Amino acid sequence: MSETELPAREAMEFDTVVVGAGPAGLAAAIRLKQLAPDKSVVVVEKGSEVGAHILSGAVIDPIGLDTLLPDWRGEDAFTKTAVEDDRFYALSSSGAWRLPHALMPPLLSNRGNFIVSLGDVCRYLARKAEALGAEIYPGFAAAELLFDNDAVAGVATGDMGVGKDGRHKSSFARGMELRGKYTIFAEGARGSLAKTLIARFGLAQNREPQKFGLGLKELWQVAPQKHRPGLVQHTIGWPLDNRTGGGSFLYHYADNLVEVGFVVHLNYANPYLSPFEEFQRFKTHPLVRETFAGGKRLCYGARAISEGGWQSVPKIAFPGGVLAGCAAGFLNVPRIKGSHNAILSGALAAEHVAAALAAGRGHDELAGYDAAWRASAIGRDLWRVRNAKPLWSKFGTLAGIALAGFDMWTNTLGFSLFGTRPHGKPDFATLKPAAACAPIAYPKPDGKLTFDRLSSVYLSNTNHEEDQPVHLLLRDAALQKTSEHDVYGGPSARYCPAGVYEWVEEAGAPRFVINAQNCVHCKTCDIKDPNQNITWVPPEGGGGPNYPNM
Ligand SMILES: Cc1cc2nc3c(=O)[nH]c(=O)nc-3n(C[C@H](O)[C@H](O)[C@H](O)COP(=O)(O)OP(=O)(O)OC[C@H]3O[C@@H](n4cnc5c(N)ncnc54)[C@H](O)[C@@H]3O)c2cc1C
Ligand code: SF4
Repeated sequence: MSETELPAREAMEFDTVVVGAGPAGLAAAIRLKQLAPDKSVVVVEKGSEVGAHILSGAVIDPIGLDTLLPDWRGEDAFTKTAVEDDRFYALSSSGAWRLPHALMPPLLSNRGNFIVSLGDVCRYLARKAEALGAEIYPGFAAAELLFDNDAVAGVATGDMGVGKDGRHKSSFARGMELRGKYTIFAEGARGSLAKTLIARFGLAQNREPQKFGLGLKELWQVAPQKHRPGLVQHTIGWPLDNRTGGGSFLYHYADNLVEVGFVVHLNYANPYLSPFEEFQRFKTHPLVRETFAGGKRLCYGARAISEGGWQSVPKIAFPGGVLAGCAAGFLNVPRIKGSHNAILSGALAAEHVAAALAAGRGHDELAGYDAAWRASAIGRDLWRVRNAKPLWSKFGTLAGIALAGFDMWTNTLGFSLFGTRPHGKPDFATLKPAAACAPIAYPKPDGKLTFDRLSSVYLSNTNHEEDQPVHLLLRDAALQKTSEHDVYGGPSARYCPAGVYEWVEEAGAPRFVINAQNCVHCKTCDIKDPNQNITWVPPEGGGGPNYPNM
């Protein structure tokens, strides 16, 4: 059935539409309702419930919550463990060197921060937003942008009940139009609508390319004698080589829970590299392996993080809408923290929306929001670390981290010898042809400490309606064979942390298989495919991982 033959969509009018119930979107809804209780705000969330798609570390800097909800510490808000011990190590395959605190730039200190599950924080924020009168609709993906003339006029949720072949099943239901005077896009890193808006309005012009990392995480219940509540530990180095950026995190919190994870910068060059296997290898290091002896892995997941920082943040206002949180790229890479800036930017966006609504405006560009962030706490946070990622990428881990540390120190004192360094190529352009790289032999998983991908995806509780159109769109199927496979050796089979992509031999020829139902919505394929041939679009609302407390 063509678009014109479809039944018309129902439309609902709001003062403000928010896409994404992460910390940015929920903070926006809360701040709007605090400032303008009579204005309507709706939040759409593609996860089956708030928090279902939230995956983070997480050690949070409380500046965001303190600003938004000053009484949160006194409330029974969510489980939190204050940071007691903050360690940073450089690893070789068997050694670990602890960097003394006195050498670390003060901005990297975790003193005063809290170890949490960001999913739980979002559930708390959702309760707060609803108590203030915001409407939150989980299970609905914003799939389409609505425009009036050239201004954003809201979003439409995707149609439900469409079969793999495009036919309408008995469960077919038309999506809904959510129309707003302003729309706040808070989809997190590599938002699919944000990506379209950045291209349509040329928002990234005169900016450095956005950079990304892939973060993988497991939640473990460890033996009580292994638990060190309040311990925060980060590492760089092994198992990654000196030219590949990334590192680990390990946070002990709540009752015998350990959040362990690994981030690989997506500007890596060797198509044989597998971020998932690097994470599994990391857990076998003598510094950490004992932590997990006698423990049980409870959950697994993965999500991209935005790493470009200050010089990559696009213009964040355009007619009828704004970007907030990691959709705008507000993550601080050396701190591996973005949730505080997500909350601050959601609130800042809401303040500009509320002022415009009070003045009777709508559908125009909130230029004041774009002008405000660099002078705000978000800008101060990102400015001081702006050279960390470019120096790391250019000089490798050893020299790059040393230079980055020096630059963060001088920035703390108010100057930099490096100016503002460029990032260079976007991540999709950094892979070398397979013929120029050495294959990497990863050890087999033991099923106790290290695992394979499929048993891991099982622990993400990922579920998609199987009979629906594939949500990973290939622009040119032939190019996938001639380039992704023949030139780059099929890196999708390795970078995807959920085993969605496979090259299988059929009648002597390689065939590209997409197991879309396993997708954990990390967005890495959309970022790293060397030809930008794969586009991630939202599947039916409610599909994807169901993280209980990641
Ligand atoms: C492994 C890892 C470790 C991290 N560690 C830390 C840490 O220790 N401390 C810290 O502060 N930060 C950390 N971060 C970063 C932090 O998680 C992010 O900065 C933060 O989650 C960004 O918030 P956000 O609201 O912008 O986006 P997100 O948290 O990504 O939320 C976006 C929400 O929007 C929804 N959504 C997206 N698209 C649509 C759509 N089209 N329709 C409907 N809903 C949609 C998503 O399902 C999701 O719920 C980490 C990130 C990762 C991946
Ligand atoms: S298919 Fe893409 S978005 Fe989905 S899990 Fe794999 S890399 Fe991530």
